[in-house]
Amino acid sequence: MYNVKSAEFTRGIVGTNEILLGEKPQVAFVGRSNVGKSTLINSLVGKKDLARSSSNPGRTQEINFFLVNENIYFVDLPGYGFAKISKKRREKMRKMIVWYLSYADSKPKKVILVIDSKAGIKEFDRDMINLLKEEKIDFVIVVNKIDKIKKSLVKKVIESIKNEIGDDNIDLIEFSSKTLQNKNKVLSEIFD
Ligand code: GDP
Repeated sequence: MYNVKSAEFTRGIVGTNEILLGEKPQVAFVGRSNVGKSTLINSLVGKKDLARSSSNPGRTQEINFFLVNENIYFVDLPGYGFAKISKKRREKMRKMIVWYLSYADSKPKKVILVIDSKAGIKEFDRDMINLLKEEKIDFVIVVNKIDKIKKSLVKKVIESIKNEIGDDNIDLIEFSSKTLQNKNKVLSEIFD
């Protein structure tokens, strides 16, 4: 079992300024808004409101760094595509995500791409998968809110997501912040 003893907000960045966090590894979380990315991060660290929902204004349009167990950074990338922000702002957020994954001075050792099990793979997710492959960044896909899928249909849903991705080598992890199923598996992806 992985034990998260501490998790603290370190800083948020809004532009493409230097990250300056030192040598500690980073694991980044990326996903469309409302896929449950902040709830996932909070579940993993066992804190209620460390990461903020993308449906709230403020810190969520920044790249937020959280120092976990004093030895690794969780990097919460802006939730992409929130309806209530302007197209211009959305494009700026997309650029920040691409900048962090492609050009920043310290790249993440792994990316957790979060999708909503009901929504499946969208254009943004496809773009991210292509970018992560290009940048040779290790990643897994967390298929979130799996509690919303009828048990008898889970296998089918996973199969169809695999088909949408068209690559059998990508790991999919079923997850739910309600049941916390596979929490340890996600943590092992981060800490191992
Ligand atoms: P974010 O925009 O990706 O950070 O999404 P949030 O974490 O704010 O979650 C969006 C909505 O989905 C909220 O109403 C959450 O309560 C809900 N949610 C998040 N995770 C789960 C989950 O595992 N199962 C279910 N059923 N709902 C979830």
